[in-house]
Amino acid sequence: KSNAILVIGMAGSGKSTLAGALSRHLEAEAAKRNPSAASSDPSASSSDASYLVNLDPAVSTLNYEPNVDIRDTVDYKRVMDEYNLGPNGGILTALNLFTTKFDQVMGILEGRSNEVDNIILDTPGQIEIFTWSASGTIITDSLASALPTCIAYVVDTPRTTAPATFMSNMLYACSIMYKTKLPFIIVFNKEDEQDAGFAREWMEDFEAFQEALNKGNATDQVDVGRGNPRARGAAGQEGEASYMNSLVNSMALLLEEFYNSIRAVSVSSLTGSGMPSFLSAVQEARQEYVDEYRPELEALRA
Ligand code: GDP
Repeated sequence: KSNAILVIGMAGSGKSTLAGALSRHLEAEAAKRNPSAASSDPSASSSDASYLVNLDPAVSTLNYEPNVDIRDTVDYKRVMDEYNLGPNGGILTALNLFTTKFDQVMGILEGRSNEVDNIILDTPGQIEIFTWSASGTIITDSLASALPTCIAYVVDTPRTTAPATFMSNMLYACSIMYKTKLPFIIVFNKEDEQDAGFAREWMEDFEAFQEALNKGNATDQVDVGRGNPRARGAAGQEGEASYMNSLVNSMALLLEEFYNSIRAVSVSSLTGSGMPSFLSAVQEARQEYVDEYRPELEALRA
């Protein structure tokens, strides 16, 4: 059976670019394994290598050709007009409408799952539309009950170098993992622009992270003081700094536990670097699904 890779991440982290890069990598690998098939019929090799599902109704251009596209089923601009909604309401309603037909999509995916190794699902730009909606949960649970599913959580590495931002991003990842309980891969994207070594160090060495945090706090506090009149003045700033310090330190301890139970890889979706290590993480995640997620699911069903 195929792996289902659910690509989730903040807007602009590079979900669609990653989905495209991964499918092109799989295509190239398939062509290497079977050069004659690729040269005689290039379209056949691409459709055999992976299966792509676009779940973002509002995306205008994609850097890949989806096999299943939510935009073929719902016109999100019409949904906005018809139901008098803003952009986010429009996307959510479009996703809800699509989800009412997701059993048909599951039928297609299960049909293809004996032919392709990987099904890649690209989710809407705004992360919360998928992770905190009933539709997102229905889609995730339907996939996970039928196929070995994992979450690929894409991080915009260049925009996550500040310790406090890094921690917020990891807490968000952590909350998604506890909500879905699925095998989880953190994908530090854009390594062409920013090496993810700092993130690895922080994940492996609690003290290094604390040190970065304490160094960063002096500068972070200046911003807090500017925006928040109550924090102005030396006493206010100190008070807030120490409260923030202890809060942040306890959260970092909580995250240590999270880091022990996940995999992290770094890639560039733009250059295509890191795809082999991402795919080995997917294989590990598949094993975790088989060993842990599946038995629990079956116990619940029994
Ligand atoms: P999405 O909203 O998460 O689907 O993000 P997109 O895939 O649309 O990417 C957002 C922006 O980041 C685009 O301008 C991409 O070209 C850029 N981007 C994505 N991946 C990379 C990468 O690995 N390196 C660099 N430098 N830019 C990237």
